[in-house]
Amino acid sequence: MDLYEYQARDLFRKHGVPVLGGGIATTPEQAQQVASALFKEGSDLVVVKAQVKIGGRGKAGGVKRAYSPQEAAEHARAILGMDIKGHTVGMVLVCDGVDIAQELYFSVLLDRATRGYMALCSREGGVDVEALVQEHPQALARLAVDPCTGMTAQAAARIARAAGLEPGEVADRVAAVIVRLWKVLTAEDATLVEVNPLALTVDGRLLALDGKVSLDDNARFRHPDHADLVDTAAVDPLEARAKAVGMGYVRLEGEVGVLGNGAGLVMSTLDVVAGAGRRHGEMRPANFLDLGGGSSAQAMATGLGIVASDPQVRAILVNVFGGITSCDTVAHGIVDAVTSLEETDKPIVVRLDGNNAEAGRQILAEAALEGVTVVDTMDEAAQTVTAIAHTLSQQPTGTAEPAEFPEPAEIKEA
Ligand code: GDP
Ligand code: MN
Repeated sequence: MDLYEYQARDLFRKHGVPVLGGGIATTPEQAQQVASALFKEGSDLVVVKAQVKIGGRGKAGGVKRAYSPQEAAEHARAILGMDIKGHTVGMVLVCDGVDIAQELYFSVLLDRATRGYMALCSREGGVDVEALVQEHPQALARLAVDPCTGMTAQAAARIARAAGLEPGEVADRVAAVIVRLWKVLTAEDATLVEVNPLALTVDGRLLALDGKVSLDDNARFRHPDHADLVDTAAVDPLEARAKAVGMGYVRLEGEVGVLGNGAGLVMSTLDVVAGAGRRHGEMRPANFLDLGGGSSAQAMATGLGIVASDPQVRAILVNVFGGITSCDTVAHGIVDAVTSLEETDKPIVVRLDGNNAEAGRQILAEAALEGVTVVDTMDEAAQTVTAIAHTLSQQPTGTAEPAEFPEPAEIKEA
């Protein structure tokens, strides 16, 4: 989970990284109030900053200085609603401003390429750091951080020196901040902590003026307080519904709902559906739902409910390989879902294999549910479901007309 700048700043503050005061606002009036309070506390400059989870806000006009509460309100009016690389600004941070003497760059991240922690530092930070790194890669020092010893004072000093900071008082202060930023990374279970600019001010302070933090969602259970950081407005409601019952759901762009037990099986099903879809009107997977291992009938019913309520889904493929989960249990879940849930009136193609597959198919055959087709193989299932989805996608959405479904497709060469 990526955090907003204001949330990153809160974590910085918590771990002793120096940041300036401020507050968030969703209207120009609120921005004016926050600015007013800052000016009363003695600020002579505030900065109004778009809160979007994307970089380059400064260059896009999303960071503006204001010298009065009125000016802050005007900037907020201009920035709120702005589109920055596809992200609409719904909130601004109004914070203390400073006069910057030098902008440094620092980040530390879990680096997949080296399978370790990597610290990056430059004494030429700021909005042009990407271009700088392209043109002068040596301007960005890269140093691995030993995960066992962590960011010791010595390691931090080495990084500051590698970035070209002369040994001395400033380098020492930068190193001390680096140690604290490492604390943010480890204590909060982040995969990335970035500060750009880490600014040296004209009056000699060192401040984190911008912050980017990505938290490791797999460590969420260790951080009950991180629940507050979730951007509930941006969370996909179906994803939240699946997560609440311990299932993995991912929304994709296509027309075919895909449901299975086990991530490996579901991922290969996506590939097979995408392949079959090429022969049936370019139908593609609309989502990915992994019921997990040892799925109960209830889990299948819940999962089907979730996939079916995705409005872009035209038809659903249930692909289950019975292991711990037995196929008769799965079949009961399908029957329950189709007979009881309003939203599961979409065509379903079922492929069951493995543990108790025969019994499962028998249950579905006896139930003779309208709109449910049982096939034997994964390829056949993919061909059939994409053909159905294609037929339905030819009709305008919302028509209640019962469709003429094709017979399970004949499998030719792959
Ligand atoms: P980004 O463009 O998304 O990385 O947003 P930043 O928060 O880094 O802001 C962009 C630039 O605005 C910074 O690199 C600074 O040059 C400038 N900036 C941000 N805060 C202040 C401030 O308090 N005073 C001054 N003078 N400039 C600031
Ligand atoms: Mn920045």
